[in-house]
Parts: sequence; C-alpha cells; structure tokens
Amino acid sequence: MKGYIQVYTGNGKGKTTASLGLAIRAAGAGLKVFIGQFLKQEDYSEIKALSVFDNITVEQYGAGEFVKGVPSKEEKAQARKGYLKLCEVLKGNKHDLVIAEEGNVAVAYGLFSEEELLALMELKPENMELVITGRKALQSVMDKADLVTEMREIKHYYHQGVAARVGIEK
Ligand code: ATP
Ligand code: MG
Repeated sequence: MKGYIQVYTGNGKGKTTASLGLAIRAAGAGLKVFIGQFLKQEDYSEIKALSVFDNITVEQYGAGEFVKGVPSKEEKAQARKGYLKLCEVLKGNKHDLVIAEEGNVAVAYGLFSEEELLALMELKPENMELVITGRKALQSVMDKADLVTEMREIKHYYHQGVAARVGIEK
C-alpha cells in the first residue's frame, strides 16, 4: 500500500490526538507503528495506554521541562538522539506508520533544522505513512506533505487558565 506524508498543525486542540488515533487504527489493522515524541518525557497517559499494543512502539525525546525559549543542552541532545533514531526507523523500513510527534515544534525551537526535517521526509519509503505533528509547521514542510490539516482554534479553555489535565491533555 502506498504511504503518504501527513501534517497536523495549527493552534487548535487535536494534533497529538489525531496522530494517536491513527496509530490505534493502524494497529487494529495489524500494521506496525513507531511513534517518536519530541519534547515530551514520561507523564503522558498515551504512553501507558499504547503499551498494551504489541505493534506500537513509543519513544520520547524530551528532557523533562518543555522547552521555554532557549533549549537546554540536555533537550538538544535528546532531540538529536530522536532525530537520528527516526532516520534509522525510516531507512529500516520495518514499520508501516511512523509518527514524528511535535516534529514541527522541535524545528521551531531549533532542536533540528528545517533542512533536517525535509531530509527526514525524503527518507520515507514508498509504502510507509509518515505523520508529523505540532504547531508552526513550516511552509516547506507543508509543501512537501501530501495531506495537511490545520487545527484552527475557535475556543480553548487554556485561555481561561485551564492547564493540561491528566487523561484529557496528557
Ligand atoms: P492534544 O494533545 O490534546 O491533541 P494538541 O497536540 O493539538 O492537543 P499542543 O499544541 O501539543 O496540542 O498543546 C500542548 C498543550 O499546550 C495543551 O495541552 C495545552 O495545555 C497547551 N496549550 C493549548 N493552547 C495553547 C495556546 N494557545 N498557547 C499555549 N499553549 C497552549
Ligand atoms: Mg501536541
């Protein structure tokens, strides 16, 4: 089956959950899934939930604190490790669906470059589906993708001071 490149971006809620939904659908069809989450570390309920699936692998490349402004050395090192791992996963061609969670945000924070993300997209084997999520997708990345969905925020309780809740946002 031919695979495409999908991008979920924008300020509205649903980018990560869209990618997780795809992962579950793919797993249900017996496909092999690899999820690499940039910026995140532990504490995300999806990691626990997805551990019940034999055919979904999840790795995280964060350093605890979500980057605020200038990324730390540790955050950079983690992101580098994740970037190289995703390159290996794409080249290895053993998965049907690969998700670069918050890949756009990693680029926005300079954890790896626009050119590097484009190069990663270039590595996608014909029959693999690649999903890149996160706010601030670059035009070049959207141009290269086959499907781009913008989650447009109409209203979000975040602005009322509601922080990420366990089971709903994390
Ligand atoms: P979900 O994981 O629920 O699908 P998402 O992936 O679309 O959401 P992200 O952009 O990854 O959302 O947002 C991560 C967190 O940032 C949210 O859980 C929320 O707490 C917070 N957030 C939401 N809206 C904003 C905003 N406008 N500005 C800054 N942070 C926000
Ligand atoms: Mg997200």
